[in-house]
Amino acid sequence: MSSKKYSISKSSFLKFEQCAKSFFLYKNHPYLRDKLSVDKQLTFRRGHDIGFFAQQLFPGGIDVSKETKNAMEAYELTKTLIDNKTPVIYEATFIYKDVLVMVDILHYENGIFIAYEIKSSIKVSETYLRDACLQYFVLKNSLTGFEDLFLTTMNGDYVMDETIDPKKLFKKRSVKKEAEKNLEYFEKKIEEAVLILEMNAIPNITIGKHCFKPYACDFFGTCWKDVMNEKSVFNLPFIGKEKLFEWYDAGVKNIEAIESSEIENPKHLKIKDSFISNTPYIQPEKIAVLLNTIKEPVAALDMEIWSSALPQLKGTRPFQQIPFLFCIADETTESHFLTEHILDERKTFAEELIKQTKKYNTLLVFDKTMEELAIKGLKEMVPALSADLEEVKNKFVDLFEVFRNLYYYHPHFKNNFSLKTISEVFETGVTYTGIQSGLEAMNHYEEYRKSEEGIEKQLNRDQLINYCMNDAQATLKLAHYLQNLVK
Ligand code: SF4
Repeated sequence: MSSKKYSISKSSFLKFEQCAKSFFLYKNHPYLRDKLSVDKQLTFRRGHDIGFFAQQLFPGGIDVSKETKNAMEAYELTKTLIDNKTPVIYEATFIYKDVLVMVDILHYENGIFIAYEIKSSIKVSETYLRDACLQYFVLKNSLTGFEDLFLTTMNGDYVMDETIDPKKLFKKRSVKKEAEKNLEYFEKKIEEAVLILEMNAIPNITIGKHCFKPYACDFFGTCWKDVMNEKSVFNLPFIGKEKLFEWYDAGVKNIEAIESSEIENPKHLKIKDSFISNTPYIQPEKIAVLLNTIKEPVAALDMEIWSSALPQLKGTRPFQQIPFLFCIADETTESHFLTEHILDERKTFAEELIKQTKKYNTLLVFDKTMEELAIKGLKEMVPALSADLEEVKNKFVDLFEVFRNLYYYHPHFKNNFSLKTISEVFETGVTYTGIQSGLEAMNHYEEYRKSEEGIEKQLNRDQLINYCMNDAQATLKLAHYLQNLVK
């Protein structure tokens, strides 16, 4: 390894591959980036936690990122550690041709270096592979004795025993074959990326499908600000991006400008009319059919699921969906059940769910996918309660059907059919403060589980119950709204 300067990190190179403008802005005008969403922050944190855990695959290494946060210092330190034949280095840092990469684990034995890149995912995506091939390219050109890089993902079939066995939790695959085929590609692409950085002006690239692939770009606020007005074609739901960009690129930027003959599905035509007239499109008879399946006594149910990348309970797998909270709201009462899962308490959860829903003939839910998955898991876990759990499931009436099937469409929904959005448009009076997403709820739950009894634990508990109960209340109010509508 020789001393070098770098101008491109792995993440900025991936940006370049997605869109040269995004790359240029990232390097020269980073202040224009959109604010990182809480969900994205949590996803990054999860990735970091898994990377840290994976160090147990090769314990006792030296963590470069703990020694310094400065990239050039990390590079110099890696160089020294390699010269000293350090057997295991975490976050080893390399530079070749203006590109700097860090590999999660670098293992040295008998003159051979093997690198491991850890991903907190079960699947190997195309992006992960490209990412790893770039790392391979840099290491191959900068590290004597480098042999291979293994993309290391989580083994979805692994079932935890008393403790986690890191060797069984992760599975690895060599990227050598793909990476070797792409060496020339990276040589060329890096030169192109450097040329972009030498430009004096922002590359003239307009919005397109590339804004979403492979990741939603974080310069949306800059590039899309004049596009996303109330009548933008991109507000239309159920119409693929291909078609939307076809219209947009042909100059059809607003919904009014779309020729009706261009829209094949009659339901989509109704959505267009709904936007133009700014009135909802309603199929009352279809809504009535669904509402007629509701049998008193009725309550609304919402459930929260915990899906930890690292299994936390004996007998569970990575990312297994484990229900931890349900809330029930009827006209006069509210109830809930929150379990800490200190031990595996899924059986108690199932028993409570059966008990607390017994008196109702209908359980209103909003998008039953998650609830049904949770019940399926509980049935597998506690077969003795299978019939009772099936009975709970059979009481579900899913109000999301109304929106998914376009029995009701309001132009203010645009292409967002979340309960929160619908609830706001219907002015149900339910306000969402605190936790804003299922991922955030999971994060609060992990904090709640970890903390000792005290103010912090109580706060997390209250926020979780409040978030879940809000959804149950909003679902109940939604049913009222729809009932009044079709009266
Ligand atoms: S929003 Fe689209 S056009 Fe703008 S920088 Fe990002 S990918 Fe490029």
